[in-house]
Amino acid sequence: MRFGTMGILLLAGALLSGGCGTTSSTQEASAGDDAQEAAQVQTGPVIVDDNMSNLQLDQPDRPVYDSYLRQERHDKGLAMAMPDLTPYKPEGEKIAYLTFDDGPDDVNTPAILAILKENGVKATFYLLGKSAKAYPDVVKQIYESGCAIGNHSYDHNYGRLYQNPAAYLKEMDETDAILKSILGVRPLITRAPGGVVGHFNKHYWDALKKHGYVEHDWNISSADAAPNHPVAKDFIDNIQSQVDSAKAPSSAIILMHSSSGHEETVKALPEIIRILREHGYTFGVITPMTPQPW
Ligand SMILES: [Zn+2]
Repeated sequence: MRFGTMGILLLAGALLSGGCGTTSSTQEASAGDDAQEAAQVQTGPVIVDDNMSNLQLDQPDRPVYDSYLRQERHDKGLAMAMPDLTPYKPEGEKIAYLTFDDGPDDVNTPAILAILKENGVKATFYLLGKSAKAYPDVVKQIYESGCAIGNHSYDHNYGRLYQNPAAYLKEMDETDAILKSILGVRPLITRAPGGVVGHFNKHYWDALKKHGYVEHDWNISSADAAPNHPVAKDFIDNIQSQVDSAKAPSSAIILMHSSSGHEETVKALPEIIRILREHGYTFGVITPMTPQPW
């Protein structure tokens, strides 16, 4: 009887210590993993520092923003010019940068965000100030999803934008102010409406660098804004043929649109993501260190 009780006590002790042992080693293991993860993989946006000295990043999937407007940097005497950065181009790796211009709207942009989330993919949205003002909740949704936001002018008016570099910068400021009023931060990346070809000369590039912006065009086009009303299958075929090509870029910046009327882009997106993955691409967001597309 006494042995019986002892036996039960011993057994209980063994179970308890076994249980504790298991728990504590699991806790240690998971704490260790977390610490390792924190050291290696940081998430969330990077906020540029006062000297603009923290832009040489080693992760291509973290958006970069500034907590100051250009004028605020100027008034506080902070760094303004974009520093020279080594473009992020790891040997042997293929990175796709999905970009969506001309948004946000309140239909296609949220639908695109849902598809990106479902597929665990981050992308970049070049927004118009005018549309951001109309759909601030969608702007917040893009930001909170971990996707990147870039400045695509106030309202896509070539005649006004391309008068001279000062006119372009004025629209950048106007759109930055709208984005900062919604998000508390503003982007450092821009895409010239219609692309830089035929629009930019050396003075535009110089002005952007001096005032702390980086412009990126694209090197793969879905042609989803072609005038002949293409459908989802056309965009998928366009992208498939460009990534099948021997000249397919290892750093692929892909042009699409998320504004109203681009329902076919939404339809094409899951297949576009699948094709890119099949071709060995991972996904990044545009930052000042993203390689230029040419
Ligand atoms: Zn555009």
